[in-house]
Amino acid sequence: MKLVMLGAPGSGKGTQGYQLANYLGIPNISTGDILRQAVSNQTKLGIEAKKYMEAGDLVPDDVMIGIVRERIQESDCEAGFILDGFPRTVPQARALDQMLAEDSDDLDYVLNLNVSGDLLVQRLTSRRVCRRCGKLYNVITNPPPASMVCKECGGEIWQRSDDTEETVINRLEVYDEKTKPLRSYYKRQGKLKVFDGNGTIDEIQHSIREFLDHP
Ligand code: AMP
Repeated sequence: MKLVMLGAPGSGKGTQGYQLANYLGIPNISTGDILRQAVSNQTKLGIEAKKYMEAGDLVPDDVMIGIVRERIQESDCEAGFILDGFPRTVPQARALDQMLAEDSDDLDYVLNLNVSGDLLVQRLTSRRVCRRCGKLYNVITNPPPASMVCKECGGEIWQRSDDTEETVINRLEVYDEKTKPLRSYYKRQGKLKVFDGNGTIDEIQHSIREFLDHP
């Protein structure tokens, strides 16, 4: 099963992607997580990517395409994968199609989560995350402990530097301009399946699994 999670920042694609990956027994590949890891390890990639990420801009296509090309060739991807945060531009989508076609392969579905704009800003600015295990918290709906120590792993809980209001607004504009056109790209291919992303985590996960079990 080869899937893409599509949706604006804050639409819940990461949360849904990880749960779905567990259910299907395939990896969830988050390009944002790969880049954050590189930033924290201060690798050459991390040093280059940091300036784009902090401004809420996209890392150049050729860099992202190279990362994904390598990652999906790893052995844990043999039974499939979920891509979360890639592709984000039409050239990235074309490159992905081409990479898969080289192995006579293809995506199965592109799962798009639709969430209203106001809710996106609220979700992103109230999001907090564990630096160590990535567990997500939300200061309104799922508050972190006052100690800011993760309940799961004891790691430090922080606010992503690109989840501040100013950067969030740019990220949403970049999404509208560069990523939204992917909906019609995949619709033309007959691969797009749209889900209402305004519900609870469990409701959305349930609808996705129901669709995949009986497409
Ligand atoms: P995310 O965790 O998916 O919200 O990604 C965080 C940031 O990483 C984005 O705002 C971009 O700066 C960068 N990024 C992640 N995936 C991509 C991609 N496919 N193309 C370009 N930039 C990306």
